[in-house]
Amino acid sequence: MKFDHCDLFEIYCEASGLIPAPWGVQCFSEYPVRLRRGSLFFLVFGFWIFILVMTTGITRELTFPEPAGLYIHIPFCIRKCPYCNFYSVTDISLQSAFVKALHREMEFVSGSDLYFDTIYIGGGTPSILSAKYIDCIIKQAGQLFHFFTDVEVTVEVNPGTINAADLRDYRTAGVNRLNIGIQSFDDAFLEFFGRIHSGQDAFLTFKKARQQGFDNIGLDLIYGLPQQTPTQWRHDLQRAIALEPEHISCYMLTFETGTPMDRKKRQGLLTPLSEGRICELYDIAVQYLCAHGYEQYEISNFARTDKQRNYRSVHNSKYWSFAPYIGLGPSAHSFIHPLRSWNQQDINSYINTVQQGKPPLAGKERLNKRQQIIEMIYVKLRTVEGIDLNQFERKFGICLTGEFSTLIKRLEKQGKLICTPSRLALTPEGMLHHNSITLMFL
Ligand code: SF4
Repeated sequence: MKFDHCDLFEIYCEASGLIPAPWGVQCFSEYPVRLRRGSLFFLVFGFWIFILVMTTGITRELTFPEPAGLYIHIPFCIRKCPYCNFYSVTDISLQSAFVKALHREMEFVSGSDLYFDTIYIGGGTPSILSAKYIDCIIKQAGQLFHFFTDVEVTVEVNPGTINAADLRDYRTAGVNRLNIGIQSFDDAFLEFFGRIHSGQDAFLTFKKARQQGFDNIGLDLIYGLPQQTPTQWRHDLQRAIALEPEHISCYMLTFETGTPMDRKKRQGLLTPLSEGRICELYDIAVQYLCAHGYEQYEISNFARTDKQRNYRSVHNSKYWSFAPYIGLGPSAHSFIHPLRSWNQQDINSYINTVQQGKPPLAGKERLNKRQQIIEMIYVKLRTVEGIDLNQFERKFGICLTGEFSTLIKRLEKQGKLICTPSRLALTPEGMLHHNSITLMFL
């Protein structure tokens, strides 16, 4: 697909109804004019507007822009894990060129007046990058984008790639949340996954992160390996909660098309776990984590909540709430309702395109009403909050409970769905069949 000067920034303008100005000068130059015109109005009516906002519950949406997320894809890994289909390369000699290209890409989109409250540095393996690069990326983002005062800054960490000094420097750079890709504490499973770290490395990485002052740490675990038993899975969960992380993600092993693990499966060299056993393992995770103080807020995600704080991932929650996000780096996706766009995947093309002064977009689409409905049902049913029925009807003019009353009653009877006058949500059992249930509504 070919783009002229149509890049993320114009996509942003199109989505928000702004008229795109010549590249890179939008919004910043308009603000002072808007403010001058507005100041007299606010002097006269400001007090009453303030009272109205405070007393009528007019929400943050009216007074502040919706917080957006900034995702940065670091496309390097020490070696490729056979189950993974995220884009990354093992040639890490391109690091410096990549970080320069990333900076250029940030400049391309910096004219938007989105306000961000998260930075998520994912991949790939971001922790391959030295702390000086992470520091540089965060600083550049801080200079080029608008941020709220409280920003969740997450870096994904692979236990085999980081030491205490790096972790300390991450903290200094402003990282306040880590997501550690542990996958399992069992060395035999880690070998099956092709990981470069051991269970002990994972344990030590977590401990070092705590020692360096990280008070918001998420762990990723994978279940559903061939021949995995409930006892083995319980053991992994026990070791995870013994560390008392703030967040745990439990991902079911999937055989993504084109991965070495999928090829093995097709060749009959490994037998996936039965559906019944997978359900059993999922059930164990939900019961076990909930019994130990973790709240399930999405199919695969569990967070601790205490009086002061809720440890749900602010960034990932944007994907389930249709909040705007911009993705930078090879293969990264962006979404500013109702427009979606995605970057070129190949790192060399990405760097070359950016060096030529062009945005590295590979494609974009405007979601039509039907696509928006499908996405809304699919995404919202992943969360424990589910679909807000009133909001859905206001947005699409469809009363879901009226249109699908028979289906909803059947799923409720099967214990897979909860339907209240205002909300439609899957039960933990229903979440396990999320894909097939979503299809029933289409
Ligand atoms: S699972 Fe993580 S470390 Fe392994 S190849 Fe994928 S991105 Fe790289």
